[in-house]
Amino acid sequence: MVSPLAAIVHNSGALRESAASGFLVYPLFSYYSYHGPVFRVMLQVCRGHLQDNSNYGFISYCNKCGHSQTFHWAELGQITCSCCNGMVCHSMVLSGPLWTGPLHDTSFVSEMLTLARDWGWACKSKKCFDLEKLLNQMVDESEPRLPPGYIKLDEIARRAKINTPPASAIITALKEQGYAACRSHIIPNAIKTDCPISSCMSTARELQGERYINHLQMPV
Ligand SMILES: [Zn+2]
Repeated sequence: MVSPLAAIVHNSGALRESAASGFLVYPLFSYYSYHGPVFRVMLQVCRGHLQDNSNYGFISYCNKCGHSQTFHWAELGQITCSCCNGMVCHSMVLSGPLWTGPLHDTSFVSEMLTLARDWGWACKSKKCFDLEKLLNQMVDESEPRLPPGYIKLDEIARRAKINTPPASAIITALKEQGYAACRSHIIPNAIKTDCPISSCMSTARELQGERYINHLQMPV
């Protein structure tokens, strides 16, 4: 899994700075565009202490199996990956401390979408569809169950030794299994999900099998 590092680091830096003054910050929305690249975050500042914030921790990535996890400070001594069977995992890399919570606030970005539609900036027609699509993606990304990073579909395909699955098909299949899943506005060929990469791989293999059967059953 890859982290939208610019967003996370920016939020983390702001969080550390404000915590020193007795405040906490939460992102209302975080926007990334590869043109530039451009990166913008709107933050809300509240009174509080860093230890009150469960969204400040560490992100791990296992080079061996591709699994990514988030850890709180109290879990720092117990970091391992399921592929290492509880043993010390030398294949893991750890980043942090970082902001590990949602990059957007659901009600705030939903309100932005409503306003954008009212003002004629967002709609389903071609002329303003990009903003409609972006804000809808941000609403999806604000689901609190989703991890801070995303998984590239090419990584799922490479590890599963199959063709790259269509994003919409794998998102639908993961949701049917009860996982949270959506596209990432940061990179088109990636998904955000709380499903472990091993289950993403098995789901992608099943989808490829279904597509192959459908192809065989097509009338000639
Ligand atoms: Zn692993």
